[in-house]
Amino acid sequence: MKYPCGLIQDLLPLYHDEVCSRESRQAVLRHLEECGECRAFYEKMQQAENIAVPYADDREENRKAAAFRTVRKKLRRRQVLLVIFTAVLVFAGILAVIGAMKNSVSVIMPEENNISVTITNGDFVAKLRGSRANYLKIKRVDTSFYGQEKTYLFFCMSASKWDDVTTKEDMFSVYTLCPRDKGAQGIDCVYYYTGDYTDIETMGESRLGQVIENSLLLWSR
Ligand SMILES: [Zn+2]
Repeated sequence: MKYPCGLIQDLLPLYHDEVCSRESRQAVLRHLEECGECRAFYEKMQQAENIAVPYADDREENRKAAAFRTVRKKLRRRQVLLVIFTAVLVFAGILAVIGAMKNSVSVIMPEENNISVTITNGDFVAKLRGSRANYLKIKRVDTSFYGQEKTYLFFCMSASKWDDVTTKEDMFSVYTLCPRDKGAQGIDCVYYYTGDYTDIETMGESRLGQVIENSLLLWSR
């Protein structure tokens, strides 16, 4: 034993990594052959190295696992975004359909007892069942019809598809056709007419006769 153990043990890492001089290497080799203590130290050192290797692998695994987790998280986030996007799209679609239904206004055709006219407190009042009217066309026609002075009230109601769908069958909407202070007393007949209202006030007898023929008489004096 030429060299003290401490010196050899200091050299062991260099010896193990094969980075020491040939002289040092031979000295360490010779010392290990003769010294049980340093041999044991070197074996421990090698074992520690071997344990360190799987630890390094673990780190690699952990890194891979973390990468996987990141990818999975991204995928999950993408799925969530997709679900949200789909929900927004469906919602927008529903809104568009409702909007279209609200904009789709059509004339309410007279059915059995869906439209009626009454005088309430001197006002002419129309009652509509099962829908709400968005538009109300009213024309008052003072005419001499085949020699008779008569005052007619023609009216027509329109509703959107949305109001048709959302209003229950047994619900009534009420509309004032002619208030008492606007000459309701002078009206002789009230007709529901779904046709053309252009210059209905100045029509001749024959054309007015056609209008009346195509109208539904709802009230007469
Ligand atoms: Zn030794």
